[in-house]
Amino acid sequence: TTFDALGLDARLVQATDALGYKNPTPIQEQAIPVLLSGTKDLVGLAQTGTGKTAAFGLPLLHLVEEKQRHPQALVVCPTRELCLQIVTELEGFKKFLPQMYVAAVYGGASIGQQIRELKRGVQIVVATPGRLIDLIERKAINLEEIKYVVLDEADEMLNMGFKDDIEFILQNTPNREATWLFSATMPPEIKRVSKRYMKEPFEITV
Ligand code: AMP
Repeated sequence: TTFDALGLDARLVQATDALGYKNPTPIQEQAIPVLLSGTKDLVGLAQTGTGKTAAFGLPLLHLVEEKQRHPQALVVCPTRELCLQIVTELEGFKKFLPQMYVAAVYGGASIGQQIRELKRGVQIVVATPGRLIDLIERKAINLEEIKYVVLDEADEMLNMGFKDDIEFILQNTPNREATWLFSATMPPEIKRVSKRYMKEPFEITV
């Protein structure tokens, strides 16, 4: 299979080509065609290195409206490092989408600067849980139009004590149309979160 066959916007296929990606990895091949509907929940049991960032990143960039400069997708991940890594990958994928903006929001950095970045108008926000909650409480981010929520490394987030924050985020995205959860392991707390907040998720193990 090639990226061409997955149903992605031609500009995204062009970006994978520019990045030197020849073929989709197994998780990309399985997830992308399903996620492009924008309405299907997903649980992906996958480690780092499997290409999971592109598996959710390409569908997000395909689905969000480039013309609308407000947050439509939220990627929640455990650490600042992962947050920056995800944003760097998304920057590569959105190379041919000139009006697409992605903000990174994480703790230990100036909140003022992150608020200004959000104010400029972004379609996708990549965030660590604590800082995201802070921004929600300050009303610096509007979750009203978030359609897609990705929980990356969900098991790590629970290990770090972010369970309540994750549930708060899921409870405060009233117009969420799809939820995609990625985790290296599937402990009972993750199963409970997926049962409570997702409906009949498509399951992929790689
Ligand atoms: P991830 O599992 O998302 O952390 O990705 C691991 C690494 O594989 C990243 O450096 C990606 O840029 C790279 N990568 C992801 N998908 C592909 C692909 N289809 N072909 C080649 N490299 C890829």
